[in-house]
Amino acid sequence: MKNKGWKEIPIGGLIVKAGNAEEYKTGDWRTFKPVRDESKCSQCLLCWVYCPDSSIKVKDGKMVGFDYDHCKGCGICAKICPKKCIKMEK
Ligand code: SF4
Ligand code: SF4
Repeated sequence: MKNKGWKEIPIGGLIVKAGNAEEYKTGDWRTFKPVRDESKCSQCLLCWVYCPDSSIKVKDGKMVGFDYDHCKGCGICAKICPKKCIKMEK
């Protein structure tokens, strides 16, 4: 597919379509990734509350893992976890 010319794209390269962040795999920006020790997890879901990228996967009210396609590796979940069961790894 041919790239659009400068007269065809929105002025300033703005993203005008709202709510499209999910279409981009922003996890590629990450240098560190969160890894959880499930045996220590109390299922308090604080990581889910604080994750700015909605990248904590929850099923049936339980934290089941991370959405690595969209997690940017900010480390907030590791900081906030009261059980210290999330570690940031390269
Ligand atoms: S590292 Fe940041 S973006 Fe990734 S799951 Fe934890 S809080 Fe969310
Ligand atoms: S914050 Fe820690 S203890 Fe709470 S659900 Fe997340 S990983 Fe488990």
